Parts: sequence; structure tokens; C-alpha cells
Amino acid sequence: MKFNILPITLLLFYCCTSAQKEPTPFVKGIYGNPATLLDAGYRLDSLGMNAVFVRSISLNREFYNTARQQGTKVFVEFPTLNGKEYLQDHPEAWPITEMGEKAEPADWFMGICPTDPDFKNFRQEQLKDILREFEVDGIFLDYVHWHAQFETKNPILPETCFCDRCTRQFGESIGKEIPGDSARHKAEWILNHADKEWRNWRSGVLNGWVRDMGSVLDEIQPNAKLGVFYCSWYPADYDSALYRILGIDPKAFSEMADVMSPMLFHKMKERPTTWVGDYVTWLGDLIEIENLGSKSEDLNQRLGEDLNQGARPQIWPIVQSHNNPGIISPEEFRQVMLEGSKAPASGIMMFSDQSLVENPDKIKVMKKLYREEIK
Ligand SMILES: [Zn+2]
Repeated sequence: MKFNILPITLLLFYCCTSAQKEPTPFVKGIYGNPATLLDAGYRLDSLGMNAVFVRSISLNREFYNTARQQGTKVFVEFPTLNGKEYLQDHPEAWPITEMGEKAEPADWFMGICPTDPDFKNFRQEQLKDILREFEVDGIFLDYVHWHAQFETKNPILPETCFCDRCTRQFGESIGKEIPGDSARHKAEWILNHADKEWRNWRSGVLNGWVRDMGSVLDEIQPNAKLGVFYCSWYPADYDSALYRILGIDPKAFSEMADVMSPMLFHKMKERPTTWVGDYVTWLGDLIEIENLGSKSEDLNQRLGEDLNQGARPQIWPIVQSHNNPGIISPEEFRQVMLEGSKAPASGIMMFSDQSLVENPDKIKVMKKLYREEIK
């Protein structure tokens, strides 16, 4: 038997070293309900795609099997803190404003109080159900932010959440009972006396969501990637609302996630197409991704990935093709795809399948980009 050991060892060595030398393919995907493309008569692989980012509600066995047969990776979008339906039966999870009142819906978005333990359990069970039924390449958390609306040129940015649980937990975090006999009075004290600590605590609560959902993923499918879709404002935009109101710290997310997917919807946010590429560069600097290639081999081994594009965290932006708000021409779509694909991005996806089906010229643009231009 011992004669067999050497060839097997050599084979394993060859496989491992050759695997390390293979560059990870650039991820080329679409987001939404990609089954609409199949229904319209297209094949995912002939469009040059190698990944789909499918909404949880659009995921089903038939689509999953077809996507696999056509060789695409399957990433699943998971809505985290958006929960209008949940509130119908669980009003105790409603976010509370600084006036002590239930927050109004922020356009179509209705956030949940992120410290509600029953809601977190509910979401974790939903995630487990998906992971037990489908072997996925990754889960992409969506709506990881405090109640607000940023997908518009006029953002809705309320102060939340001052429910009893949030103010109590915040008080515990700073070792102080918050003075006041009502949510309104407590909010007033917090905003006047401990604003900085309040913002930090809120950000920590969101980070806890990313960590806890990541733990569920690790437990059931340890090889799947954890991605995060998040608002791509710069830190100073809108009076620092990214951190101050949404509670998002991209650097902290990047330390827990495998993939950062900034939502670079230029028309929705009234930005030029070049903003997409500029943001990717900025994010790469922030999370020091551009330095990975020059870091020691030891570090990359510790990261458990190869030097090419496998090191985490990776950047896979999502760009806008969707015609609402505004109209995105096929050429403009092409521009934002190219901007979003710039280094250090190692993947790209577009929003959404429907905009492609509505305009075959956009399908031509994407096909050419994915099959010929983006490597
Ligand atoms: Zn709360």
C-alpha cells in the first residue's frame, strides 16, 4: 500500500498548487429575479454571466437547477431589517422616533427595531431554511441599516430607535441609567448628552447583525461567501448620515464580510457615471484591498486565499440599469458597468433583470461586456 502514497501525495500537491495559480474568475452577474431572462428565451451562460444574485423571494428549485445547469454561481439576497409585514403581527418591533412615536414608513421601506430579539430569531430561522434547502455560493445581506430611506435623491432620515429596549441597552453600554420618564425625554437626554456614544452603539448593533447572520452561514455552509449590499454614500454626505442615521460603518462591515457590494445607483442618487469608479477606488483604499498584492505571502496564507482575487474582502459593486428614477441609456449602462468593474473590484452585477428584458439593446451591451470586455 505504501507505494500508493507517493503518487497520491504528488497528485494532491499538484492539485493544490495548480488551484492556487488559477486566477479567480471575475464575477459577472445580474441581480433580481434572473428567471425573467430565461422566460424571455435567453440562456444565462450565453449572455456571458457566471453568477446570479437572486432575491430570496424569487429563489425556487426550478430556477436554482437551471442556473446550476448553465454554470452560474448562485448568490442569494437576504432582506435583513426591512419588515413591513412582520410589523403587522409584531407591533412591539416598531422603531420609535425621538418624539416617542412609531416611525412612519420611509417611502416603501419600513425598518424594524434592530434590538428586537424575536425578530432576529425570525430572520435567523429564515436564513437557516434557505441554507438547508439550497447549497448556495453566498448570502448577500440587504437592508442592514437603521430605519431610513436612502435610495432616492431626497433621503428620509429619521432618528430612531428610542424604544424602551434600545434606550435600556444603550444605557447599559455606557454604564448609566438614561434619565427621563418617557421615550421622548430619554431621547432628548441621549441626543444632548451622549450623541457620540449613541451613534457608536447603534453602529455596533448593526455590526452584531452582520456577525450573527454570518455565524448562521458559517455553521451551515462554511464555504459560502457572506456579502453585504449597502448604501454607498461617502462618510460626509448628507451631514454624515451614513454613520449618524443609517448606522453603517463600511470598514467594520468589511472586517466581517467576504464581499462588499456598494449600491452604486448613480441616477437614483443623481451622480455622474464617473462617481461609480471613484467610489470603488475610495472603498479599495478604505479597506486596504489594493495593498493585498504587495503584502507578505504569510498574510495571504493566513487569509486562506490566493494572491490574485481570492483575498477577502472583495468588492463587487451593483450598478444601475433600471429606468426608475430617470432613463438609463444602453451607453450609460455600459459606462457604469465599466466604471464599477475597475480595480480593485473583482466582480460586478447590475440592477436589474427587468431593465434588460425591457431593452434588448442593454442585453447586447451586457453580453459584449461579459463575453469580451470585462476580464
Ligand atoms: Zn428599539
